[in-house]
Amino acid sequence: MKTVQDYIRTIPDFPHEGIMFRDVTTLFADARGFRMAIDQMLHPYAGLQIDKVVGLEARGFILGGAIAHQLSKGFVPIRKKGKLPGATIAQAYTLEYGEAVVEIHDDAIQAGETILVVDDLLATGGTAQAGIKLIERLGGKIASCSFIIDLPDLGGRARLEGMGMDVQALCA
Ligand code: 5GP
Repeated sequence: MKTVQDYIRTIPDFPHEGIMFRDVTTLFADARGFRMAIDQMLHPYAGLQIDKVVGLEARGFILGGAIAHQLSKGFVPIRKKGKLPGATIAQAYTLEYGEAVVEIHDDAIQAGETILVVDDLLATGGTAQAGIKLIERLGGKIASCSFIIDLPDLGGRARLEGMGMDVQALCA
């Protein structure tokens, strides 16, 4: 039987030469693969209290939306600067070249809510760390961070675990 990993393809030299890009659109496009990924991402959280699911732009929206629906919980997007229409708080983080900023609506999470953070891939952990900071600034408590792919050589897992986070991933 095919595993989640079998549905993911690697595209060389995207978006830059030398980068091996993990393309999860082939996983999302397959009904069986997509359901398998969502079911497996949900598995560690059976019986755990989660109030909201937060997805990181953009593929975290697809996964986080499906997970929130399955849990019958609300979904909150963390977006790149300038995309959210309401009042936001912002968090800058460092990229390989330069800096990026992510935002969340300032009323999207109530203090004390338990949050599941979702994205497709964990590399350096910079994106997830910025998202976690936004959630914590609003008073949210992170239950766990869930990814399809963890690239441990890039240090993201160590970085998030160093912040006291629980990190779950389906494959490397
Ligand atoms: P990090 O901030 O952990 O270095 O990078 C993770 C972020 O970049 C995630 O939002 C993820 O979607 C995106 N990303 C980086 N490399 C890849 C890749 O090879 N494949 C996919 N699908 N996303 C990637």
